[in-house]
Formats: sequence, structure tokens, C-alpha cells
Amino acid sequence: MPLILNRLQLAASIFRCNLTPKVIPVKFLHPTFVRHDEEEEVANVDRNNANIKVPPSKDRSQVIPVETSMKYLKSSAYRQTYGNDPVWKHYRRNYKGSFLPRKTRKLCIRGGVVSTGSPCPICRDEYLILDYRNIDLLKQFISVHDGRILDCNVIGLCQKSYKDLRVAIMKAKDYGILTYDVPYRYYNYLEWKN
Ligand SMILES: [Zn+2]
Repeated sequence: MPLILNRLQLAASIFRCNLTPKVIPVKFLHPTFVRHDEEEEVANVDRNNANIKVPPSKDRSQVIPVETSMKYLKSSAYRQTYGNDPVWKHYRRNYKGSFLPRKTRKLCIRGGVVSTGSPCPICRDEYLILDYRNIDLLKQFISVHDGRILDCNVIGLCQKSYKDLRVAIMKAKDYGILTYDVPYRYYNYLEWKN
């Protein structure tokens, strides 16, 4: 009797060794996994085909020429919106906690779409274009007292717009469109006399 059992065990072990192990992936065990994958695929196809509708207030894919922006700054629509105040005057930054962050955010527009809830004064109005010819806009960001560019924490521009602003102002000064006074210095020449 034990001999027969031994033979049977041996035969079974040989049979088991010949079998190739068949591993079934986990995602095919339950139908929800498959459905989840299909949903993701559909979402990716939608994203690729750009079928997702962007609200027109957040769409910034259209390029607006500087001439249009210059006309807009002199129009009644602009005066109705901002009055005589600079564009950054009534802007309020959103930030987490009770302390103001040291720097403003990097970007407001990603891939031609406004990506934040409170875009900076330049990014929220698509007709405000920072260019060296757009003097009426650039003057709003220059301090009346010392002729310097206002700090980004005061005007609330994102870092990208702030860089564009500094470049535009420098270029306008180089071209001579934006005039500025060199401060007069009073020297006491008696200090250099022996
Ligand atoms: Zn911005």
C-alpha cells in the first residue's frame, strides 16, 4: 500500500513539473478594473483631441496685437472698467495663511488657459499687452516719487509678467519713448578742498 502511494505521489510531482504556471493579471479578475482603464483611455483621447471646452473668459490662445491694446487703453470700455486708477489698484491677491508670501506666483497662464482663480492684473485682462510701445500701460507701474518700477508684491504681477514688464520698460527707455529724469545731486565741494 505505501509503495502504491509513493508511486502515485511521484507520478503527480512529475505531472506538476510539466505544467507551465499560468498567471492571470489582477486587472482581468474583476470587471471594474477593465472599465476603469477604458474610462482613462477615453479621457486621454478627449484631451488629445482638445474636446474639453475652455470657458471663453479663461481662454488666452488668441494673440492680440499691441495696437489693439493701445486703442483699448484710450477707449471708454477701459475707463468704465478701471476709471482713472491704475490697473493693479483694486486687485487683491489670494494667499494661504495670514502672512503674505515673499514672491508672487510663477505663472497665471499655462498652455493658453488661465490656470488660477485670481490671475494677476495683466493676465486677467487679455487686452493688456506689455510692450515697449504701450506707454500708457507701462507708466502705471512706475513710481511717481522716484521713477523706479514698483515691487511685484505691491502691484501683484506674476513673475513672468513682472519680467516682461521690466524688459518692456528698459526697452522703452532705450528707445527714448519713455523719458525719465536723472536725479540732480547737490555736492558740497568744500569737502574736497584742503
Ligand atoms: Zn500673471
